[in-house]
Order: sequence, then C-alpha cells, then structure tokens
Amino acid sequence: MKNNLLEKKITNFVKKFGIRRAFCKDIFFYNIKKNTIDFSIYTDEREPAHIKFINNKYDTDITDWYFIFSLLHEIGHHETMNELTDNDWLTEILVRNHCDSEIYWNLKAEDLANKWAIQYLIDHTEKCWNFQKECYELMRQM
Ligand SMILES: [Zn+2]
Repeated sequence: MKNNLLEKKITNFVKKFGIRRAFCKDIFFYNIKKNTIDFSIYTDEREPAHIKFINNKYDTDITDWYFIFSLLHEIGHHETMNELTDNDWLTEILVRNHCDSEIYWNLKAEDLANKWAIQYLIDHTEKCWNFQKECYELMRQM
C-alpha cells in the first residue's frame, strides 16, 4: 500500500517529462520501448564507487542526493536520447551487462544522462531536496 504511494508520487514526477509511469523495482532503469522508469529503494554495494566516480568526473557532490540523482539520471536518458545515434544505443545495450564498470559509466548515453541530471539538480536544488525528503519519508513507512 505504502509502496503504491511512492510509485504514485514518482509517477507524477516523471509524467511532467512525458514519461508514462514509474515502477518500484530493485534497479534504476529507463525502458525506452515502454517509456517507463524503474526505480529502486535499496542501496547496493556499487553505490560508493559510483558516487565517487560522478563526484570526480563532474566536479560535483551528489553524496546526499543519490536517490534523486539516480531518478533524474533515468529521466535524463529520456530527455537526451535524441542526441544519440543508433550506434551509441547499440553500444549502450551491449555494455549494459557490465554496468558496474567505468567503461559503462563513460558511455555517451550515460554521460549525457549524468550531465542532464546534474544540471537539473543545480537548477531545481530546493525542489529536488524536498522531493527526495518526501520519498524517504514514504520509504520509512513501507
Ligand atoms: Zn543510465
């Protein structure tokens, strides 16, 4: 039930970008065919390395923003996909199985999504912080 509340909240958020809906799963993923986003409420072991990579590469600090950053990253795929060629996408799909590697994190599609997410955080800092806080609150009740 509480799960539904979180899905509903995040669906409302992604809908503003023209994404159909969001599903509570165990990974973050943008499904390009279905135009949906899966999000995860769990942390995983790759998280610290990924945060470090993002902070270094983009000269930023997303440490306390990882949930909203991860969500925005998936929205960023939707927002930047027109900037990619078919080949970029093919590489993305081929390397996806190794998604804990820096090779994957440096792919063009990933880079564009990261940059989009970071810029959105800069432009809407307070809104993002409050949104993340409200999501955490719903997670605590689950
Ligand atoms: Zn991605």
